[in-house]
Amino acid sequence: MKARMITDNSLIDEVIAACEVCYVGMVDQNNMPYTLGFNFGYFDKVLYLHGGPKGTKIDVLRSNPNVCIIMSTAHQMYHQSENVACSFGMKYKSVLIRGKVEFIEDLEEKALALTHVMRQYTNREDFRYGVPSLKNVTVMKVVPEKIECKYFGY
Ligand SMILES: Cc1cc2nc3c(=O)[nH]c(=O)nc-3n(C[C@H](O)[C@H](O)[C@H](O)COP(=O)(O)OP(=O)(O)OC[C@H]3O[C@@H](n4cnc5c(N)ncnc54)[C@H](O)[C@@H]3O)c2cc1C
Repeated sequence: MKARMITDNSLIDEVIAACEVCYVGMVDQNNMPYTLGFNFGYFDKVLYLHGGPKGTKIDVLRSNPNVCIIMSTAHQMYHQSENVACSFGMKYKSVLIRGKVEFIEDLEEKALALTHVMRQYTNREDFRYGVPSLKNVTVMKVVPEKIECKYFGY
């Protein structure tokens, strides 16, 4: 099976649109890795994340905004010989994003970011948000410094 690096932006967007979750790698206050799963939205080359108002990830990201984010889709097991373990593998399409988290404070911008998240999962945009909810949610964006996309087996 061959790996191919994909540079066509429309194919990269397709992979991101097909992913259900991303894993955000962070660097904590002790310079140790901390990685968490997140739902996300993506629009116009910007990735959006959201979460509760408090917690380890918020402290970590406020102390060091650098992130490395991985997401993947089209997972498919294959094998050359069903009795040879090392002939088994998994096809996938994945995207790796490096950048910095920026916290969004403006409530209108928060609502728009949450709509991008909702669109990823529902294909809808007609959502309303109450001000207390918007104040209580942490919304972040990552403007990618680098995006890489890999097809393995495709
Ligand atoms: C598929 C998926 C999608 C998710 N989407 C989101 C999202 O969009 N937004 C969001 O805020 N969160 C999401 N989560 C949950 C997220 O990964 C974190 O668990 C959660 O945000 C709490 O993180 P924290 O740093 O605030 O943990 P804290 O509550 O501060 O952590 C408390 C303790 O639990 C440990 N811990 C934290 N998370 C996990 C975990 N997932 N499994 C095991 N131990 C853990 C910490 O190391 C710490 O010791 C998602 C998780 C999954 C698996």
